[in-house]
Amino acid sequence: MDEIYNSTVMGKILLTPDLMILRLRTDKPRNEFKAGQYTTIGLLAKEPRSPHSSVPIDEYEPDFLIKRPYSIASAKHDTSDFEFYISHVKSGQLTPRLFNLQQGSRMWIDDKILGVFSLNDTPPNTNIVMIATGTGLAPYISFLRSHIHHHPEIKLAIIHGAANPWDLGYYSELTLLQTLFPNFHYFPTLLKADSSWTGLRGYIEEHLNNGVLQSAGIEVDPNKTHFFLCGNPKMVESVTNYLSQFNYTCHHSDCPGSLHIEEY
Ligand SMILES: Cc1cc2nc3c(=O)[nH]c(=O)nc-3n(C[C@H](O)[C@H](O)[C@H](O)COP(=O)(O)OP(=O)(O)OC[C@H]3O[C@@H](n4cnc5c(N)ncnc54)[C@H](O)[C@@H]3O)c2cc1C
Repeated sequence: MDEIYNSTVMGKILLTPDLMILRLRTDKPRNEFKAGQYTTIGLLAKEPRSPHSSVPIDEYEPDFLIKRPYSIASAKHDTSDFEFYISHVKSGQLTPRLFNLQQGSRMWIDDKILGVFSLNDTPPNTNIVMIATGTGLAPYISFLRSHIHHHPEIKLAIIHGAANPWDLGYYSELTLLQTLFPNFHYFPTLLKADSSWTGLRGYIEEHLNNGVLQSAGIEVDPNKTHFFLCGNPKMVESVTNYLSQFNYTCHHSDCPGSLHIEEY
């Protein structure tokens, strides 16, 4: 066993050949973190790549630790069991190796948990709208698992854009939460669904323009609703442009705003 490794794969759920939920247990617990933060995970370059990845351009020495940041999807109080929602970049360095892991495989996870995409630090009584493409959903899953019980007084919404129905990770969990919590609204929208899909279709921006949030009683007003954007840079850019009409500004520690962004 390589001593650099400090965690064990407890579960690997392939939603598609290129989309997975990965669960790790650390040898030692980490500090409690904030929902929305990320940590870094890694594997040595000598680990085999998944059979359907492409051949990488860069080759590393076998003992080089390939590391990348991933948002944590598990609840903030789970300090030994971490869940990640990961997309396979076939030409990438780390994800082809992650997709080749098996239950019981060993790997590396950083001690540090970082990031300022903190969903539970919004001012009291402001609604929270969480917008994601693809695996950008992960920080919102952590937030809902950690805090949905604590916020009956505000409205919460997720708008999740994906290609096909099978790309909607956490669909069952989010649908169940919508049933259990009347203040939580879940809007999945698909670009490539066939006629069996009866939900929303098309780009997230189109639904914002068509008043999807207002239909849930959520006002697009920086004093009343904070927006979180996570995922594809094009989505982030176009939703940011949409929100700028309503005087939304990006949040920074020295200059608070109602728009919070995490780009992958
Ligand atoms: C704060 C933060 C949190 C993140 N959280 C997540 C997460 O929860 N889930 C997740 O899947 N990823 C997440 N990422 C992205 C992740 O860190 C890696 O960049 C990604 O998994 C690719 O790693 P790789 O080593 O396989 O590819 P690399 O070797 O890093 O990249 C290879 C090539 O693929 C391109 N590329 C990189 N990412 C993608 C992509 N997603 N789609 C298409 N092309 C790509 C690169 O531009 C590069 O040309 C996060 C990134 C940041 C900064």
